[in-house]
Amino acid sequence: MTSGSDSKRSEDTAPQPTVSNLQKEIRELSETAQQLLTDKLLLESEVTQIKKRASRLEDEIRNLRAPPMIIGHLQDLTDDGAIVRSSNGTVFLVTINPRIDASKLVSGTRVALNQDTLSVIEILPDSWDPLVITSEIIEKPEVSYEDIGGLADQISEIRETVELSFTNRDDFRKFSIDPPKGVLLTGPPGTGKTMLAKAVANSTNAVFLGLVASELAQKYIGEGGRLVREIFDLARKKAPAIVFIDELDAIGSKRLDGATSGDREVQRTLMQLLSELDGFEPLEDVKIIAATNRPELLDSALLRPGRFDRIVEIPLPDEVGRLSILRVHTKNTPLSSQIDLEEIATKTDGFSGAEIKALVVEAGVSAISNGRKRISKSDFSKSLEKITDGRRGDGTDNSSGLYD
Ligand code: ATP
Repeated sequence: MTSGSDSKRSEDTAPQPTVSNLQKEIRELSETAQQLLTDKLLLESEVTQIKKRASRLEDEIRNLRAPPMIIGHLQDLTDDGAIVRSSNGTVFLVTINPRIDASKLVSGTRVALNQDTLSVIEILPDSWDPLVITSEIIEKPEVSYEDIGGLADQISEIRETVELSFTNRDDFRKFSIDPPKGVLLTGPPGTGKTMLAKAVANSTNAVFLGLVASELAQKYIGEGGRLVREIFDLARKKAPAIVFIDELDAIGSKRLDGATSGDREVQRTLMQLLSELDGFEPLEDVKIIAATNRPELLDSALLRPGRFDRIVEIPLPDEVGRLSILRVHTKNTPLSSQIDLEEIATKTDGFSGAEIKALVVEAGVSAISNGRKRISKSDFSKSLEKITDGRRGDGTDNSSGLYD
């Protein structure tokens, strides 16, 4: 009874809703609704972001879990599929993923194979070994014959051998003569062998591909043969090209009985080089110029006809040669009128072209450090002294009476 009368009393005392109160309440509720709507939109966009991220992470996990593919090379296509050689050398007949553009599948194409079925899954781009990529590749070397001092006979012999076979291909065909494939340059270090090879490439508009054979032998034991093959493949792609192999003796030394396993690997590199020399068509636009300081060490197989057809000796320059090398390297250098290049040529007996260049560079540095505008006689004297000391140090000094 009591509680009934209490509730009646509270209803009587509750404030009566007024219009303004109701309007205020509506305003507040609609603001809250607006706020909730905004929150909802924000949350929805957050959900979308999170879903995207989750799907990216799922992809990543799938990639990480995917089994590795095997790399192989296509050998042939048959009605039943493809004949591929996997990287370990085994040959398989396998199916081809129908998504692959079959017209791109030619013999030699590098492909990715499924690990279980060995199906061809993807076509891969050709790979060039990092060494091939980092070997010196110059589209057009800047060295020209005018930059070479002396060596007139050697230049004309190389032009006859290499340049003619690039420029007069039809004549060789008419005469039924195979043009020479390569030239071997022999001679002491720093006498301009690399320069000559670059100058030939320059005058024939050929790409210059230079590599140092000792690097093939040292860094890539077991890999040398493959690298030689890849370098020649690259040269064929970039033809006309000149492959310059410096320090040929490092891979081309005489084969000895009872060689160590390291020697056998080097011999495998040599065999690959010989097969490249024998393999490519004589008229193909790839010529080889090799250089060595130790021709007596070379395997006679390299010197058979059809391989290095000509051997051109590049000796240390004589006095006339030294004078013309001095002229080449001082062509754009301001010299004091007292300097007599002929006298310097006489005093530099036994110097290689590289040493004569070093002599001019040293003299120039001395002039600059003394604030002179021209190289003076004393700069040359100091430079001669320095270079001769260096030669004595490394045991190459065979000159005497350099100074008056
Ligand atoms: P290596 O056997 O050590 O590889 P190389 O015979 O190939 O030596 P280059 O690399 O051609 O010698 O020469 C080294 C440098 O010496 C050249 O860059 C050039 O400046 C200079 N030089 C050598 N010979 C001559 C030359 N006949 N005329 C002008 N410069 C020369």
